[in-house]
Amino acid sequence: MGIKVAKFGGSSVADGIQLTKTKQIIEQDPDRKFIVVSAPGKRFDSDNKITDLLYLCKTHIDHNLPYDQVFQVVADRYMAVKLNLGVDVDLMAHLDEIRENLKKNPTADYIASRGEYLNAVLIAAFLGFDFVDAKDLIKFDAKGRLMIEETDKALKEELEKHENAVIPGFYGSTPDGNVKTFSRGGSDITGSLVARAIGADVYENWTDVSGFLMADPRIVKNPKQISNVSYKELRELSYMGASVLHEDAIYPARMANVPINIRNTNKPEDPGTMITAEGYHHGMDDDGPIITGIAGSKNFTVVALYKNMMSAERGFVRRILGILDDYDINFEHLPSGIDTVSVVMSNDSLGDRLDEVLDAFRQRLQPDSIDVFEDMALIATVGHRMSYRPGVSATLFNALGEAGVNIRMIDQGSSEMNIIVGVENKDFQKAIRAIYEAFVEEE
Ligand code: ASP
Repeated sequence: MGIKVAKFGGSSVADGIQLTKTKQIIEQDPDRKFIVVSAPGKRFDSDNKITDLLYLCKTHIDHNLPYDQVFQVVADRYMAVKLNLGVDVDLMAHLDEIRENLKKNPTADYIASRGEYLNAVLIAAFLGFDFVDAKDLIKFDAKGRLMIEETDKALKEELEKHENAVIPGFYGSTPDGNVKTFSRGGSDITGSLVARAIGADVYENWTDVSGFLMADPRIVKNPKQISNVSYKELRELSYMGASVLHEDAIYPARMANVPINIRNTNKPEDPGTMITAEGYHHGMDDDGPIITGIAGSKNFTVVALYKNMMSAERGFVRRILGILDDYDINFEHLPSGIDTVSVVMSNDSLGDRLDEVLDAFRQRLQPDSIDVFEDMALIATVGHRMSYRPGVSATLFNALGEAGVNIRMIDQGSSEMNIIVGVENKDFQKAIRAIYEAFVEEE
């Protein structure tokens, strides 16, 4: 027998109906011993997430507005769940305690964390599992940064004592004992930490989709599912905007080599997406797809610097980075040629400082010319298998050429795991469709 950690997201634990499905899934496999839960999410499109309502309570308190009504909506949802599940939990006592604390204007993190807390208490009773609070197990330092090794140790020590447990996601505490949450969607990280700590065979992340898609379904019609992806590939894809799993949830599982399996609570028969160290990188002759996925993002600025004999000039790139550092701007890519180097920055990071930055480039780098391309989009075509297939870049560039897309920048990582092209914002969707069709439809 193995051990599986199963994390259930907001929509999987939104109400009695969803929780009944969740229970069935857990009971189908006795290996599912440690369960991490989110706060109740939306039950229908116009519904509210509990976490949003709790943050709203805090906003009311901060503005000296009555918050009882908002909190009552939260309380009513848990009462309905309790009634539906027929569990024996003194929910009133928990709600009263929170109401008392609300009078003292607690931190937003404390208030938000109660969504996961109450849900885990109810779900533990429903499953007949132990409730294990995350507060003293998920450890943050005084600055609010996760202390990953201390957390690992605390989780190991505690979870060893339990056969089965339900653990609330999303929060832990700082050394002064105050509750601290991760960023939004952070229950995924809790699940990954638990999976690492107990050395799980797999970390299942149950949500409302059957895993990752090869491209954004708003751009490509019915894109194929990604069945296998490596941790590294996923980093390349998630960095560009995929949002099924919190980005920071990959690292803890990856450290312990625990595969992550994205699963759909509403379609438990679907195998979902498996995230492992290798992805599809098993060898040249397996029949996995050439590319794993396509992801992109709009609104970048590319500044192309040209200077004769740049390659012989020492410290040129160091000075570029120094300027970016002075302005606190992150660069996304830095593709270079013999006498050229382009700086790719997101418009978010650049803000309205383009002119200032260009002046600094002119003064401190003395380039022969500077070309600026605003409103650029970056598209990453990702896949380990691309590296040992000849003709991959030809296929990609032909596809874009035929679609009439002008490529303004190309960056191929030395791992050959991805090819990034820069195109104009207006060509973004067209380019993604062309690449998808060339690699996936043609297969
Ligand atoms: N409930 C939190 C949120 O809505 C955390 C989570 O669900 O992962 O962001």
